[in-house]
Amino acid sequence: MTIAVTQPWPPEPDSARGVAPAVEHLLAPNASSWTYEGTNSYVIANGGASVLIDPGILDETHLEALRRTGRANGREVASVLLTHDHPDHSDGARALADSLGVPILCMSPRFADDYLAGGQVLDVDGLDVHVIHTPGHSDDSVCLWMPDSGTLLTGDTVLGARSSGVMGKLGDLLTSLELLRNLAADRDVLALPGHGPAFTDLVASATKVIDVRTRRINELRGYIADGDTTLLTLIKRLYPDLTGSRAMFGASTVISTVEYLAGLDGEHGIADPDQREQILADIEKYNQQLAAHAKERAAAAAAH
Ligand SMILES: [Zn+2]
Repeated sequence: MTIAVTQPWPPEPDSARGVAPAVEHLLAPNASSWTYEGTNSYVIANGGASVLIDPGILDETHLEALRRTGRANGREVASVLLTHDHPDHSDGARALADSLGVPILCMSPRFADDYLAGGQVLDVDGLDVHVIHTPGHSDDSVCLWMPDSGTLLTGDTVLGARSSGVMGKLGDLLTSLELLRNLAADRDVLALPGHGPAFTDLVASATKVIDVRTRRINELRGYIADGDTTLLTLIKRLYPDLTGSRAMFGASTVISTVEYLAGLDGEHGIADPDQREQILADIEKYNQQLAAHAKERAAAAAAH
């Protein structure tokens, strides 16, 4: 079976369209520099049951479109499922689940009513949906694999031609991408990502991400050896064009790369122990500032 992507991109937000056997796609209306054209919500619908995946932002029109799609043809919605807990995927999850009286399934302690586990197989009225734990983009990232149709929901672990940040551990991401590459090594796979259009070149896409990350690892190792041991100088050298909120994306990727390097021995990692200590201390300082900011914001929100 050869799998082809024939549908135009991007579609209208909130309008459901079939993108694979038993899978409908709805684009959330949250386009931004972070989310590309918006977050991809999916509905896995089979027989009399459905699962709503990544509702995206808290937008009642979008949530209603998801409910309607999930309930079409008299189906019953079994659960809301998150590929990971980043706000562009999860903000609408609680409202959606509560409105339907169904649990949220995911690996995030912030949202899970029922925890997913890697290797678990969900039964959507007879359709097997395999949960693959793919940490890296975030610790709680999962992909959903439907072997019958060769369809893989990739979350933000791999986005085809687009890039996604590393908010989890870089070593985990490399392992996860290797796993997905193996999955697609000897069969056709239709990949449905968390952002952007469907793609069929999963092996090439995963390889590209591994290559880019490996290049970044080597570049950062060189910069640190040059004596650049502050987070800011490393971000500026690695991502000279990133500004504003996109710089945060650069920060998380640099941090995960430095932490990865710091975990490697000798010349593979950060050879000079003083430089290693300096950059790790600077990251620690940044993380503390970030935590203090988050606390302030929470306090300010509680005061309103
Ligand atoms: Zn996302």
